[in-house]
Amino acid sequence: MVRPKHDAVIVGGGHNGLVVAAYLAARGLDVLVLERRPYVGGASVTEETWPGYKVSTAAYVVSLLRREVVRELDLKKHGLTIYPQDPPYFQPYPDGRTLMIWNDYAKTREEIRKFSARDAGAYEEYERTLNRLAEFVEPLLLMTPPDPTSSSPRDLIGLLRAARLARGLKKDLFSEVEILVGSARDFLDSWFESEELKALLCGQAVIGTFAGPRTPGTAYVLFHHVMGEVDGMRGCWGVVRGGMGRISECIAAAARERGAVIRCGAPVEKILVENGRAAGVVLAGGEEIRARSVVSNLDPNLTFLRLLDPQSDLPPEFVRDVKRFRISGSSVKVNYALSELPDFTALPGKKPGPQHRGTIDICPTLDYMERAYDEAKYGRWSSEPFLEAVIPTTYDDSIAPPGKQIMSVFCQFGPYDLKEGTWDTEKEKFGDRVTEIFSRYAPNFRGSVIHRQVVSPLDLERDFGLTHGNIFQGDMSLDQLFFMRPVPGYADYRTPVRGLYLCGACTHPGGGVMGAAGRNAAREILRDRRRGKLR
Ligand SMILES: Cc1cc2nc3c(=O)[nH]c(=O)nc-3n(C[C@H](O)[C@H](O)[C@H](O)COP(=O)(O)OP(=O)(O)OC[C@H]3O[C@@H](n4cnc5c(N)ncnc54)[C@H](O)[C@@H]3O)c2cc1C
Repeated sequence: MVRPKHDAVIVGGGHNGLVVAAYLAARGLDVLVLERRPYVGGASVTEETWPGYKVSTAAYVVSLLRREVVRELDLKKHGLTIYPQDPPYFQPYPDGRTLMIWNDYAKTREEIRKFSARDAGAYEEYERTLNRLAEFVEPLLLMTPPDPTSSSPRDLIGLLRAARLARGLKKDLFSEVEILVGSARDFLDSWFESEELKALLCGQAVIGTFAGPRTPGTAYVLFHHVMGEVDGMRGCWGVVRGGMGRISECIAAAARERGAVIRCGAPVEKILVENGRAAGVVLAGGEEIRARSVVSNLDPNLTFLRLLDPQSDLPPEFVRDVKRFRISGSSVKVNYALSELPDFTALPGKKPGPQHRGTIDICPTLDYMERAYDEAKYGRWSSEPFLEAVIPTTYDDSIAPPGKQIMSVFCQFGPYDLKEGTWDTEKEKFGDRVTEIFSRYAPNFRGSVIHRQVVSPLDLERDFGLTHGNIFQGDMSLDQLFFMRPVPGYADYRTPVRGLYLCGACTHPGGGVMGAAGRNAAREILRDRRRGKLR
């Protein structure tokens, strides 16, 4: 018998794959990461898209990254610097008014009062309620979801733990249920009357999600995005010095320091299964690499339906569930290099100001967002999309030539499946539309564009390996969360193939640059190893 060369081969060097590598290598395992692209990071990447401009091509801000991962992998020592955004949000409206959300409640109250005195009073309690709920959910993020159909002591203890946490919520439990199943619109309506405020807060509910504010389940997506923190400030988002790829590079450095080997430009074509267990991988070009365990950072579609032979390697009911897992793409990213900052009619100025440092949302009303979704629902990209822009150069002077700016615009909605045309023919038209809309609010914008890159759902699929361009490796709906993610009965990072594990955003706790899925998967792999299952 050929002796396996590695203890673990990790397919994909996204940030979660790298986290697994670091934790396994820290325990002395011989770990090899194989990444298809020329650099690590997956969707958390920085690319020199144009000479001198280091662009966060996909993910653009951080908040969800688990503090445990930052601490245990010494990411700060490896150079991770995060600038908390203040203000978090700026929204200009077509009538010339603006709304700024600050980290300081008193300042935010004054801003909201321009739209509604009642909402100004309610906002702080809204934030505090979300924070309390986040404290409840937080321990669940780093927990392996228990299987509610199992009677193993471990699963029963897990269920008991979750139930205990839920009990601790007391009357907030009802808000939690509303959040899990309700629509963002209903949830926000129950708190506020101002359309402008609700539209601003609702942005987080549709990011990466093929759903409108009225769609049940969107309240959870909103909540998912307020669960993080920067420097202990709950719900705060931040800009990473050097771009989002810096996070991945720091994790990669931690993994290497602990002994892991990372190979880029190494696309895996096949996962080897022998006698019902994972035996290694085959790279494009035919190189065979043997291992005691294989950990896939890819989504279930790629892992089970492409890299394995679903007919011979997997039980049919599992294959059916994998095919049912919804992975709908709906997001387009437009990245710009600019010669100057946008000069907003509603808040003029080309020198860096709060209007440039906050996340800039273009979404005047909830109906605007719903209409944007309506178009996408029927297979057209939104002609008036919801836009969320971040200008990282207002915090970070290391990513663009002096005096120049980078602006990342996340856009909803651009459905993966278009009724007419293809993304290759449509994407620049979509980019033109985004430029036009932004120029309505900041007339100097069009003239300031030096470069533009449109990343369509098809590009996300082709370049980043995200099926259908879904930014979370799978929809974040209630039926695909916790013990249901990605497939009921297999939410513990294991798969029907012994020695094959999942570790990406398609597993609990889902999408976002968090590192939680990777940390959880590593724990389960080490557990199996301790129990002698990975010989
Ligand atoms: C446009 C966009 C914007 C986003 N914005 C944010 C944001 O601002 N903040 C945030 O927190 N989250 C954001 N997200 C979500 C977040 O980036 C992802 O959920 C997260 O990065 C997923 O990490 P991962 O390691 O699980 O998987 P991935 O990043 O998907 O990594 C998988 C890796 O596997 C590699 N791979 C694929 N196939 C193969 C193969 N056959 N062989 C070898 N390697 C392979 C891929 O190249 C990739 O490196 C965004 C995502 C996108 C796409």
